[in-house]
Amino acid sequence: MTVINFVLILLVSYPWPMRNAQGNFDGPLGVSATLGDGRGSAVSPRFHRGIDIPAGPGTDVFSLASGRTISWPHPNYEIEGYVRVGNYHYDHLTNRVRHDVEVTGILEDPINPDRIGDVAEDHLHFQIGPSGGPYENPLSHDGGPDNYSDDGMPIVYSLDLWQSGSEAETARELDNDEVWGKVDIRASCQDRQTSGGVNTTSGIYRLEWLVRDIEEGTAFGPFPTTIFPQVQPPNNGAPVLLVYDRHNYRTASPFYYWVTNPIINNQVENRYWNTKLRQGEEWNGNDARINSEAQYPDGEYRVWVMAYDIIGNGGDTLNRRGAEDEDIILDNFKPYVDRVVIYQGGRVIKYHAFWSEPVSDTRLGSLV
Ligand SMILES: [Zn+2]
Repeated sequence: MTVINFVLILLVSYPWPMRNAQGNFDGPLGVSATLGDGRGSAVSPRFHRGIDIPAGPGTDVFSLASGRTISWPHPNYEIEGYVRVGNYHYDHLTNRVRHDVEVTGILEDPINPDRIGDVAEDHLHFQIGPSGGPYENPLSHDGGPDNYSDDGMPIVYSLDLWQSGSEAETARELDNDEVWGKVDIRASCQDRQTSGGVNTTSGIYRLEWLVRDIEEGTAFGPFPTTIFPQVQPPNNGAPVLLVYDRHNYRTASPFYYWVTNPIINNQVENRYWNTKLRQGEEWNGNDARINSEAQYPDGEYRVWVMAYDIIGNGGDTLNRRGAEDEDIILDNFKPYVDRVVIYQGGRVIKYHAFWSEPVSDTRLGSLV
């Protein structure tokens, strides 16, 4: 039984690359930035490819795996640079181990592994994956780092609605009292990290949105959108700007997220909420022509955005923890005359007409 437990523990987590206060690699250490956070600039954006672990300058960093080092830049290892061993990448290091030497990692020797460098400034950047990506989320890879926990609740500060296409150069915000057409939902949110007793903030791990018809009580969704189990190499930055609003783009958390652009199979898709959608259609299907055909008939709706961290905190609409809402009025359809009947005298119908295609076709029926 003990043997089985031992094997399970090995499979469900992995050591941290720096020692904790007790001098071992069991952590938990702080996490000040997570995979998928916006990085770079609006001109040259990219996703953050790993996690940041806060630590003072000179803190010893160790390799998880044993193997040969790639140490860059070399040969001058006084200058800040990175070390890779296998698929593990350690960045912002000084006094690095030499390039192309064999090191013993923590997984092989948890007591006396080889030091590979020092933290240069205030954090270690740690990432997992081949040098060209895709990059795995270190907080979920192999069950995440040992004893990783996070009691912090993500916060959704605000959400607002924009005409679809606003993530591009021209942004057009919609008034909540007059929402129509194809809509992008934008939310300002942030996760509070508590790992290792260090209180930090980072980007969120997962987003969802949901719409509720206030009069009918009908709920649509939740629609899962942004999620970061891994990030692909950036494609000219375009995927990043479909997730983060370029008009508020900046290099540090928190972020404005385009909630309606989902990440599917690790690729960002430029989608929207078609408030005019006809019943039974896919998200990008045909518009309804009249209210009775519409998935979202004109009226009052409540739009929710729910944010989650990797542990699953957040998304609590009942207590508004990691969730925020806005009431809006959908106004897509013009009133129309459905039927005209003209009587002569008692019950004699002189004229009886329908608009069979009320919006696009205004032909009358025939006289009776
Ligand atoms: Zn980093």
